[in-house]
Amino acid sequence: MTNCFVCGKKKEDHEVWWNKIAICITYDSEFQNNEIISNMSDKSMMCHACIKTMEKKVGEKNKL
Ligand SMILES: [Zn+2]
Repeated sequence: MTNCFVCGKKKEDHEVWWNKIAICITYDSEFQNNEIISNMSDKSMMCHACIKTMEKKVGEKNKL
């Protein structure tokens, strides 16, 4: 079990495969520059639900 860096919920290992390195590979600089992402350590894990929420937020920001 791992705690999600963002929501703090306990998640199974398969639900928190995201870490900063994975995010940097998968997402663009806009996403990487997000405050929460910037505060992550290389070992921090984020659950899929939080990634989706953040994806939405960044997407909305890009439209402005
Ligand atoms: Zn989460």
